[in-house]
Amino acid sequence: SQGTPITVDVVVIGGGQAGMAAGYYLRRSGRDFVILDAETAPGGSWQHYWDSLHLFSPAEYSSLPGWPMPGWSPGFPPASHVVDYLTAYETRYDLPVRRPVRVTSVTRSGDGYLVESDHGSWSARAVVNTTGTWRQPFWPIYPGIREFTGTQIHTTSYRSPTPFAGSKVAVVGGGNSAAQIVAEVSTVAETLWLTSREPRFLPDDVDGRILFDVAREHAREIASGETDSGGIAGLGDIVMVPPVQAARERGVMVAHPMFDRLTATGLGFGDHVEQVDAIIWCTGFRPALRHLQPLGLRDGDTGRIELDGAHVAGEPGLIFLGYGDWTGPASATLIGVGRTARDAITALDDDLFTVPAI
Ligand code: FAD
Repeated sequence: SQGTPITVDVVVIGGGQAGMAAGYYLRRSGRDFVILDAETAPGGSWQHYWDSLHLFSPAEYSSLPGWPMPGWSPGFPPASHVVDYLTAYETRYDLPVRRPVRVTSVTRSGDGYLVESDHGSWSARAVVNTTGTWRQPFWPIYPGIREFTGTQIHTTSYRSPTPFAGSKVAVVGGGNSAAQIVAEVSTVAETLWLTSREPRFLPDDVDGRILFDVAREHAREIASGETDSGGIAGLGDIVMVPPVQAARERGVMVAHPMFDRLTATGLGFGDHVEQVDAIIWCTGFRPALRHLQPLGLRDGDTGRIELDGAHVAGEPGLIFLGYGDWTGPASATLIGVGRTARDAITALDDDLFTVPAI
């Protein structure tokens, strides 16, 4: 549909941290490749996070392969530091990123794939999919959701508490985004925090360093068939970053059970309606995989895509990177994605490119 496709060995879809890690190993393996990224600037989803967001870990625990993240002190780096790092990383390794290029479909073609986008098409033996989750926000469906006349936003649109000053705000969700947004919005507004189960706070001294060690140990347990300690999920969900600790001291980190419906002006709990001006849905994300629909990868019964390591089962030329434990331990973190990228790109070399094409 868009002229003759450009032929490369590998197309990487997505130019965030996972795309950078894939690019690093593809560069080392001497592959002819391209990274297609829907953004207008480097940094992946880090460029869209809320203004006050800081990492869970120090800079030295937040590095991609090859080149450590420059130091930051005091405390943990802000999101803008990650954007600067990813921008410099891309230049340093001369990664062939094309933007803005939004991939619209991937189909099978010959012994590889045809990748079509809003700016041209590519054909490749292998596709590395690193599209993250930020572009696929998840909103649960509640009765009355369209009747509510106040403001409703998802985490993806939240930048700062300023627009909520003086109002009453419901924050929905039991994870880190919700906890951090409650902590911040409660400094200027009345908040009502709603979770479908009791929130699970990590101990105050647990930060990204410990979480990474736990994820690595968990992967080792699974690989060696030892008793599964539950990994990070067994520890808790919410990292007690300083603003969340401060909000707890102010007594605002108190969660309430979910409502059963929305009304024009608020939230319905049985007979009672709680009036609110705004709802912030911190209800998570799903992997952004719509462009892969033509491949029919989902199991007809479970709806899941089966992976073998980071490879899609039965598709040696199709890799998923960066979506969390599904695609490798701690693979949704800066420090964790490098290892899964290395293993997957190396396997690609062994499986695909060392076999002479007939
Ligand atoms: P993204 O950064 O989302 O990049 C995906 C890229 O793919 C984007 O540029 C997107 O535009 C592009 N894309 C998507 N679809 C298409 C398409 N069809 N065609 C072309 N391009 C496409 N991680 C840490 O390591 N440490 C932390 O402290 C930390 N804190 C976090 C705090 C919060 C609140 C959140 C939300 C996340 C945090 N993370 C942290 C996790 C980390 O930010 C994400 O897991 C990470 O950005 C995912 O990287 P990625 O490259 O997989 O995806």
